[in-house]
Amino acid sequence: MDLGIAGKRAIVCAGSKGLGRGCAEKLAEAGVEIILNARGAEALEATATEIAATGARVTAIAADITTPEGREKVLAAAGQVDILVNNAGGPPPGLWSDWSREDFIKALDGNMLTPIAMMQAVIPGMIERGWGRVVNITSAAVRAPIAQLGLSNTARTGLTGFVAGTSRQVAGKGVIINNLLPGLHATDRAVSLDTAAAQAQGITIEEAAAQRAATIPAGRYGTRAEFGAACAFLCSQYAGFIVGQNIMLDGGAANISI
Ligand code: NAP
Repeated sequence: MDLGIAGKRAIVCAGSKGLGRGCAEKLAEAGVEIILNARGAEALEATATEIAATGARVTAIAADITTPEGREKVLAAAGQVDILVNNAGGPPPGLWSDWSREDFIKALDGNMLTPIAMMQAVIPGMIERGWGRVVNITSAAVRAPIAQLGLSNTARTGLTGFVAGTSRQVAGKGVIINNLLPGLHATDRAVSLDTAAAQAQGITIEEAAAQRAATIPAGRYGTRAEFGAACAFLCSQYAGFIVGQNIMLDGGAANISI
């Protein structure tokens, strides 16, 4: 299927690994030029080189997207942007009483205020040109909150509220914003969660992964290719009537289909 976005330019934040990388790969496959961001230069350059080897145009910008300087660096390198994929690392788990004001500010900065700042930076140009797509990578925890992820639940639902209003204010100008909500996916983050579960229960990482996969109706973790393909579709010419949605990619884990 031709997504009709060849020649567009995308910023993919936090895209050297995992879900962000999946989005960059599938957008590149659709002919989109990629401005690829992450903090660690080595993994970033390696991913950029692999994607470029498929014939895509890729520029790697090493920067912490949760800082004003990092965002400035990425935006300056990108210039005119048609597509924005917002992503960053998730906040740590814990108990409701663990977190200080500083912990909340950090989570809000990373997973709410950063994507909002990126949208505020690129949407005016998209409106001017009458076309734009934004996908925010949030979490299945937005619709099915996870008890120990209080910081994430708090920041990501805040972002979701902003998108609910903003997406409807800009849809008539050709700018389409949606959120993708990952459940368990086979990324580095999943491996570290499996490792923690294995240590806590005195079992192997494979056993812990199998236990967690068994809680998913699909019987497995999602892949970055599946996630990236959903992202690329939401960035396509065909997604113009999908506005402000929160789309679960969780293998059916959360029983909230209705
Ligand atoms: P991952 O495999 O650990 O990859 C994270 C990527 O983000 C890496 O490329 C990392 O590179 C980059 N990154 C992290 N912090 C950054 C920052 N401040 N600035 C720029 N780049 C940054 O993680 P993932 O599994 O793809 O998860 C992506 C997001 O989805 C996270 O917010 C996670 O909480 C959420 N999520 C994931 C799952 C899942 O099952 N995988 C489920 C629900 C929600 P550097 O470290 O080099 O910067």
